[in-house]
Order: sequence, then C-alpha cells, then structure tokens
Amino acid sequence: MRYISTRGSAELVDFEGALMTGLARDGGLYVPETWPTFSADDLRAMRGLSYPEIAFRVMKPFVSPCIPDEDFKKIIDESYATFVDHSVAPLSQLGPNLWLMELYHGPTLAFKDVAMQVLGRLYDYVLNKRDKRITVVGATSGDTGSAAIEAIRGRSRASIFIMHPNNRTSEVQRRQMTTVDANNVHNIAIEGTFDDCQNLLKAMFNDHDFRDEIKISGVNSINWARIMPQMVYYVAAAVSLGAPDRTINFTVPTGNFGDIFAGYAAKQIGLPIDKLVIASNLNDILTRVMNTGAHTLGEVHPTMSPSMDIQISSNFERLLFDLYDRDGKAIADLMNQLTETGTFTLGQAQREKALKLFTAQRVDEEQTLKTIEKVYQQSEKLIDPHTAVGVEAAWREQDAATDKSTPMVTLSTAHPAKFPDNVEKATGTRPPLPQHMLDLYDREERFTVLPNDLETVTTHIRKTLAAESQTV
Ligand SMILES: *Cc1c(COP(=O)(O)O)cnc(C)c1O
Repeated sequence: MRYISTRGSAELVDFEGALMTGLARDGGLYVPETWPTFSADDLRAMRGLSYPEIAFRVMKPFVSPCIPDEDFKKIIDESYATFVDHSVAPLSQLGPNLWLMELYHGPTLAFKDVAMQVLGRLYDYVLNKRDKRITVVGATSGDTGSAAIEAIRGRSRASIFIMHPNNRTSEVQRRQMTTVDANNVHNIAIEGTFDDCQNLLKAMFNDHDFRDEIKISGVNSINWARIMPQMVYYVAAAVSLGAPDRTINFTVPTGNFGDIFAGYAAKQIGLPIDKLVIASNLNDILTRVMNTGAHTLGEVHPTMSPSMDIQISSNFERLLFDLYDRDGKAIADLMNQLTETGTFTLGQAQREKALKLFTAQRVDEEQTLKTIEKVYQQSEKLIDPHTAVGVEAAWREQDAATDKSTPMVTLSTAHPAKFPDNVEKATGTRPPLPQHMLDLYDREERFTVLPNDLETVTTHIRKTLAAESQTV
C-alpha cells in the first residue's frame, strides 16, 4: 500500500513513510492511494473472531509490505492486552436497534487508547529496525496527552514530553499523566492556557535546529497510523450486528474528524454503512458546513465535552480530498483560502455527495446534561458528556428515520469516571473509577512547572534528555 498526500504535490510514501512523517511535505495529510476492498464473504468470515484477529485482517493491507505478518500480529496482541475488557469494543443496548459501543476500556479510559497503543508499538518497531530514537512532544487539554504517555511509557526508542496548562485540566486527567512512573515520560505544566501550550509546540516544530537535534515527532490525529486502527471497531461492531447482510448506521461524537473518518474508511473498504452521523457540541463548524456549505472558523467555546472543543477539524481535509475526486490542487486552494480568509465554501456537488453518507447534529450543553440523565433513568447506565452528545444526535436521527430497522451504533468515547462532576450533576450519582485506577489519588505526581516561555521550555527538554540518556 502506498500513501498519497491530500495536496497532491508530495511524493508517495509507503506505510513506514506515512507513519514516521505524519504531515506530508506539501502540508497535506496522507491517505491510501487506493482503498483495498473486503468482499461480503471476507466480512462474514470475521464474525465471531476475537478483536485482535479482526484487527489483523482489517489492517494488514494497509501496512503491507512494510511489516511482516508475524511481527504485526504481535504488535496487535500486545496493544489490546492492555485493555481491561478483552473484547476491546463491547456493545451494550440502549433501546430497540440502538446500541452503544464502549471504546473506553483501555489504560486511560478514552477511545484514543485503541489507536495510540498500536501507534506507540509501531514507532518502537520501526525505530528498532532503523536503529534510531525520537522525542515525542505534545500539547494537551486532557485525553490525548494521557493516551500518548501510556503508549510511549517504557518504549526503548522514544521519550515523551507532554505540556498541559497548569491548573487547567481536570484532576483525573492531570493525575493520569503525572503519576506514570517511567523514566522516558516527562510532564510539563505551563503557566498559561492550552493555546499557549499549542503555540509553544508549533514554535518547536518550526525551529528546524531544535527539531533535528531532538528528532521531534508528534502524536496528533493527522497521522494515518492513528486513523487506521479505528476502522477496526466499525467492522467488529457491524459484523456482530449482522453485516454484510444488513446495513448499519453509526453516530460519532466528533472533534478533529479522525474517528468518524475511520468510519468513512471502513465504508470504502466494503462495510455496508448507510449513515454516519457527525455529533458536535457547541463547536459546530462541521454541522454548519454540512447544512449550509460554509466552512467558517469561529471562536472555541469551552464545553463539558472538552475533547470536542475545536475550531478546525484537521481530518476533514481527508474527506474533502475524496469529495473533490482526489484533486490535490483543489484542496490546496481551499486550505489556502481558509488560512487567508478564515472561510471557504464547499461546492454544491461536493456537499450533495457528502450528504449521501453524512448527516450532522449540534447538541447544546443543556441537552447534553438531559441526555446523561435520561439514559441513566432508562437503563441505569452512566455515560460521559462526549458520549451524551452522540446519544442525543442518534435519538434525533432515529426519530426522523422512516425505516427504523437499521441498527444505530453510537460510539461511547470516554468512561464516565473521567468526567465525574458533570455526570454527578446530571444523575446524582458519582461514577466510580474502575478497579485498576482506584489508587489514582494516592499515586505520586511528577511534573515540572515552567513559565510560558519558549527558550525556558526547550532548555528544559534538552537537559532532561541528556540526563535521561545517562540513566539508560
Ligand atoms: C478525541 C475525542 C473525541 C473526538 O474525536 P475526533 O477523532 O477528534 O473527532 C471525542 N470524544 C472523546 C472522549 C475524545 O477524547
């Protein structure tokens, strides 16, 4: 499999190239040059297999020929052994033809573990082969940082530095990052906001000397290797609910458009998905573009589903590429327009094409709380605010559907105990942490508080790396 950039002028790369480069040199995102396809028989043959076995079959064409089967199987098995629930993505029923897919049974209690666990091991595998090291640097407002730390902890070929805004993450989120006891994990609390952290990160990536010196690498969802493992749970859920002999719908709480793009990818490889519902919180740029065609940047509104508080959904570019018949120049033009004017308009033909598969729903804060409450009353199940945005969107779609017999699966993206205050506010019940995290509040925290100053931070990273290499 080779990968092509959405902006058309970067060279094609193999899987290893896409993994190690992240963003293409022309500023675009890598997508598969062609979509491999699975026949109805191939899909039927996956019924009843274990999650790692399905994962191997679905992802194999995407990593071929870079990673031999036996090595890849080992990477997958180890990745999913870290999940408390070995089915990785269990379904639970909310109502007639209405399902939740629980993606939060991994080490950090959010769906990002499903891909990140694989990504960390893929990095190690390739770096071993090339006898190289990298330094992962990231900025986080919560979920991404802890998932990345869990993925990189103890890996022999990588160190990780995660910046979070000091005193501005939830305590659960901070402790999940700062209590990891591994000598290649380094937390930095920046005296500033999440935007300050992101600006520091951008400045480090733009400083070519620093970048080359520490062999910097990112972990955000523009990397194809983070999208790829997410296709698997769409396939696993669909075949267990009767695909390919029945169509399935999915609703996805959406921020950066990575998770739902994986659903689109699953459809391209042959999964009979009828509808993909984009569920947004108040940050509704995607709902607006679907409903009006105007892709216009707005302000970021902080909500109780913070992992979806985005201004721009980077992975939307991957969908645009297909909507514009893979015309890289057209995409480069749209993206330049967006940078220069803060807006572009999706063409009428392209919007109609998108609406054949996607619909979008915006869910406000009050509706989110009500949904948490209603689900608890109906089924005694506690759901987190991100999941609630999805469930409300799914209800609306089911109510409006003429044929209600197609199963609707809502992706449950975080464990309720990650956002205990709002869940308690809605239901009166405080969700307990799962067994393996009960001592989270007793574990020792390790982090360094630094001012919002580029030079102080880069000096700290250099010194810490030097000290780390002496202890190995
Ligand atoms: C990251 C995240 C999302 C959004 O996923 P995207 O791939 O960015 O669209 C939704 N819910 C939770 C809990 C997340 O951590």
